Parts: sequence; structure tokens; C-alpha cells
Amino acid sequence: MSIMCLVDDKQVPLYRVMWVAATPHFCGEEDCIREGYYEIRLEQGESVWANQEERDSMLNKLETWQGGEGIPDDDEDW
Ligand SMILES: [Zn+2]
Repeated sequence: MSIMCLVDDKQVPLYRVMWVAATPHFCGEEDCIREGYYEIRLEQGESVWANQEERDSMLNKLETWQGGEGIPDDDEDW
């Protein structure tokens, strides 16, 4: 299976995901363009913003992903 998940027009590698928001973003700002979107936090302080469908897809993939699979790592003994 793919270790990439499409979020907000970006292919995000599963192993870069730190956490996924359980609730949609709300900050109360009138011009907030992220309201109703779910934050997906990546390594190095980056975030991508997923709609509910993308968020669910990401969670599904993370749950079924064999952790470590696909991560470039020369030390692994395959
Ligand atoms: Zn906001």
C-alpha cells in the first residue's frame, strides 16, 4: 500500500505525521480560512490542513500502515 496520503493537494508521507487533530479547527477569527479543517501536524513544525474526508483517509492509512514500512533507513535489515 502507499505510504503517501493526499491532503490539501499535497502527497504527505505517513511517517512524517506527528499527530492528527481530533476536532476541526476553530479560532473565532472572521477571516480564518482553516475553520472546519483538521490540522495534521508534520515533523519540523509544519502543518497541513485536511477536510473531514482527507482526515478520515489519513487516520485509516495510519491505522493500517505497518509502522516503519517505507521509511528510508539504511540501518534496517530487510
Ligand atoms: Zn483559525
